[in-house]
Amino acid sequence: MTHRSAKPMEINSISKSYGNFRALDNVSVSVKAGELISILGPSGSGKSTLLMAVAGFIRPEKGSIHFAGEDIVRFPANKRGFGVVFQSYALFPHLDVLSNVMFPLNVRGIAVADSRARAEAALETVKLAGFGDRKISALSGGQRQRVALARAIVFEPNVLLMDEPLSALDKTLREEMQIEIRELHTKLSITTLYVTHDQREAMTIADRVAVMDKGHIVQLDTPEMIYRRPKTEFVARFIGEAVIVRLDEPSNGIISEIGSLGGSGSMLMIRSEDLCLASTGDPAAWLSLSGLLRGIVFQGDSWLLQVALPNGEQILARAQKHFIDAVHALSVGSDVKLHVRRDLLHVL
Ligand code: ADP
Ligand code: MG
Repeated sequence: MTHRSAKPMEINSISKSYGNFRALDNVSVSVKAGELISILGPSGSGKSTLLMAVAGFIRPEKGSIHFAGEDIVRFPANKRGFGVVFQSYALFPHLDVLSNVMFPLNVRGIAVADSRARAEAALETVKLAGFGDRKISALSGGQRQRVALARAIVFEPNVLLMDEPLSALDKTLREEMQIEIRELHTKLSITTLYVTHDQREAMTIADRVAVMDKGHIVQLDTPEMIYRRPKTEFVARFIGEAVIVRLDEPSNGIISEIGSLGGSGSMLMIRSEDLCLASTGDPAAWLSLSGLLRGIVFQGDSWLLQVALPNGEQILARAQKHFIDAVHALSVGSDVKLHVRRDLLHVL
């Protein structure tokens, strides 16, 4: 199954309120042709509202959505030609797999022989070749989600919109499907928006991640930039594990160590896993923190260390497996020294 050339989409300053509540506040996103952007945010941040506005199921009060040279914001959903996949599969349980996938083609008046061939090709794309005559009820969750995906791509949509499509699946299957969706996207290169509240899923699947909070997009960047260079404390805390300490508080013991860090921000972010129990090479390349070890928790691939800074503020550090000897030498209630490479520090 191939795909016609992808097109960019420009979402400009759209706002949507439910009564007095602003679910979307001036949201803008430029999606490049063939790009997959994931919309990541906590529950209630406005992700589904944004996706529904792009799909045409809800109408924003203001703003525009430019696609293929037109503002489509007033177009009904069925005039947009966008494929949609939801968390609940919304398949027809009484029809077999092939009929479910043929449905969008039938609606578009495509001849049966042609639509059958295209549906079979779509099933092959989602690795369900030969499943056409199965009943939906006889499929596993992962297979049903693939049928939903086949149905969304069978009419060669201009844009693919997915809202938490994997959240009903168990962890192992979800992780497998993330890789499959990524591969499928590479193959078809359809301009895609993918909603999820799972940061790892967002980073795994997407070219760029749009982080949402309270109806705003707070950062739109590559997964690596979102993780390494978050723009706000919210992004730093929502993605990964972060130690965030104030730079204007001498009593936490950071400021005396830090020297000149550069940057104009007032907070320092350290990824928990970047804290080490020993430094190597040039000591000047490392920042060291002293604290009191309050607790050690074994978590399989690493240990979580609860450390109280001189001002009593508690931070969480993660000691990786290779520090096993150093971890065993620690004792709760004693002082501990943590080290982090200066080039991994990020000022917010
Ligand atoms: P998300 O998908 O990020 O969880 P939603 O876009 O579904 O968030 O919802 C954003 C906010 O808008 C939430 O606070 C939600 O309660 C509210 N909301 C969503 N749909 C409606 C609706 N139809 N009527 C009133 N409030 C709504
Ligand atoms: Mg939602």
